[in-house]
Amino acid sequence: MSEENTTERLDFVRTIVAGDNKTGKWGGKVITRFPPEPNGFLHIGHAKSICLNFGIATEFSGVCNLRFDDTNPTKEEQEYVDSIIEDVKWLGWEFGDGPLFASDYFKQMYDYAIELIKKGKAYVCDLTAEETREYRGTLTESGKDSPHRDRSVEENLDLFEKMKKGDFPDGSKTLKAKIDMASPNLNMRDPVMYRILHATHHRTGDNWCVYPMYDWAHGIEDSIEGITHSICTLEFENHRPLYDWFLDQLGIHHPQQIEFARLALTYTVMSKRKLLELVEDGLVNGWDDPRMPSLSGLRRRGFSPEAIRNFCKTIGVNKFNSTIDLALLEHCLREDLNKTSPRVMAVLRPLKVVIDNYPDGQVEELDAINNPNDESAGTRKVPFSKVIYIEQEDFMEEPPKKFFRLAPGREVRLRYAYFIICTDVVKDENGNVVELHCTYDPATKGGDAPDGRKVKATLHWVSDEKALNAEIRLYDHLFTKENPSDTKENHDFKSNINSNSLEVLTNCKVEPSLACAKPLDRFQFERLGYFCLDYDSSDGKLVFNRTAILRDTWAKLQKAQKKKS
Ligand code: ATP
Ligand code: MG
Repeated sequence: MSEENTTERLDFVRTIVAGDNKTGKWGGKVITRFPPEPNGFLHIGHAKSICLNFGIATEFSGVCNLRFDDTNPTKEEQEYVDSIIEDVKWLGWEFGDGPLFASDYFKQMYDYAIELIKKGKAYVCDLTAEETREYRGTLTESGKDSPHRDRSVEENLDLFEKMKKGDFPDGSKTLKAKIDMASPNLNMRDPVMYRILHATHHRTGDNWCVYPMYDWAHGIEDSIEGITHSICTLEFENHRPLYDWFLDQLGIHHPQQIEFARLALTYTVMSKRKLLELVEDGLVNGWDDPRMPSLSGLRRRGFSPEAIRNFCKTIGVNKFNSTIDLALLEHCLREDLNKTSPRVMAVLRPLKVVIDNYPDGQVEELDAINNPNDESAGTRKVPFSKVIYIEQEDFMEEPPKKFFRLAPGREVRLRYAYFIICTDVVKDENGNVVELHCTYDPATKGGDAPDGRKVKATLHWVSDEKALNAEIRLYDHLFTKENPSDTKENHDFKSNINSNSLEVLTNCKVEPSLACAKPLDRFQFERLGYFCLDYDSSDGKLVFNRTAILRDTWAKLQKAQKKKS
């Protein structure tokens, strides 16, 4: 363990690992793994598991394998493999010699199955899937032995080989472990080890007509790789006896399975099946839609890997399922972006302002600070000229008491520039304000009045001279309910979709320094929030995603709670 970590309280998983190192249970070795099934893109829940497994390996000078659990050829694709590798690397983790694949162990698994058959611990069963379910019994009723349970070893070996070669149709036979149909744990009632599937696998092609079930495959994969701590989510707790049984019967290296609570977030669905449904039904624009909790979506939204890693560190790991407030994830995001993102000026909904006493054709380059939290980020020049844009909502013709921004006859500061006073309002035939006329005070250059007079508001602005046009996409929660699966009768989670989760503004103005921004570059638009350049940008068109607004509801809540106590 590094110095930094020894002072912190260890979570229960790390406590186990540290304890094992002390007793020398694994000879000081720590080998973990992250085992995604390549049937979808990774999401923020997976990040919790990734940070735990890779984090432990790093802290205890061990290794963490990235191993694809590619045992179900019907749902798996190379596209998912590629995206998962990209996401793990993007999060900043390194995996041993390269990605590993469960399918590389198919032959070894098959040989182990033959070993169990020879030991009388596995048999070929002809019950259909439905019959198998019936025979299994229920939580309150014990199961019934399959009529094929007592086949001879020779017959089982013969049938299993024929299953493998493809002599039987899909679903007509299975290989089952011979354990105990009366076990109180349903997972131990002669679980299926292999099913027949005439499907083409993305890596092994048509080599196999039988595919291993998760519970059979997983322990063997862990064992082959010499995993010491096999960390998985709580729903596998009552699969652990089966994990242990298989490895004990084979007498091979036997890692310790440890279960922790999976991550759930408010306003978010986390099941890959549901996320796929959103994509396939066109409710979002693909897996990397910035509203998705997928890592590719969060990345496109403007999340940094650091923000996600800090979030995972903040939530920690425990044994009880709970739901984390989405505001906490956003809080971790802001903490990072506040430190790292350069400030720039942009106007989302422009209102034209003509500064009547400013010389025609003059352009001044004014100094603007790039990051008040990081002096080394320096300054840049922003052009100022006679025509500028401010935010429509920063002007009111008849301001209520608490509105301190621009209004007729009122003086405000333009950030890094001058004080201006509004002298005239131009409206269209419908009475909408379309243009303001102002005067500026040349003595206030840089934003301060030499006579010490004060103004109550500072506005951001963009000069018409050299302004760039941009499209800006504003996002809100994808679901209207904290728990999207909480639905009225006969409705599914999709009935809780927020139909206003995306607003596209096409008429925005941004300062010229953004001309050299690259996709995924992040900025703070002064007073507006954090934004990031989207891949959809091209030479002629800038497109930004709003990553987060500035207001931090989580920090506010914490402050209020502290005050109370
Ligand atoms: P599905 O949602 O399709 O049931 P899955 O999310 O479990 O599948 P896997 O590819 O099997 O998908 O997940 C890989 C690893 O990530 C597993 O070890 C799993 O326990 C872990 N994991 C998945 N979802 C979460 C989550 N929400 N929080 C923490 N870990 C998770
Ligand atoms: Mg899974």
